[in-house]
Amino acid sequence: MISGKEFMNMTPEQIAKLFPVPRCDCGEEITEHPDEWYRISGRAVCSDCYFNGLGEIIEEHPIYVPRRRM
Ligand SMILES: [Zn+2]
Repeated sequence: MISGKEFMNMTPEQIAKLFPVPRCDCGEEITEHPDEWYRISGRAVCSDCYFNGLGEIIEEHPIYVPRRRM
């Protein structure tokens, strides 16, 4: 554990190492706040992969849109 005093004396670089930026499988840094991470099956992913993945899911399981016949 790091004491508050030690923490205050750390450089921003050292602090950044304590909280490594999570990365998506594609290597993209995930910069969103953890509460706002995009997730696929519980894994944090970048927004690009999320929307790409979402597109595939929708292609496999099309959302049924009722259409009225005129
Ligand atoms: Zn990604």
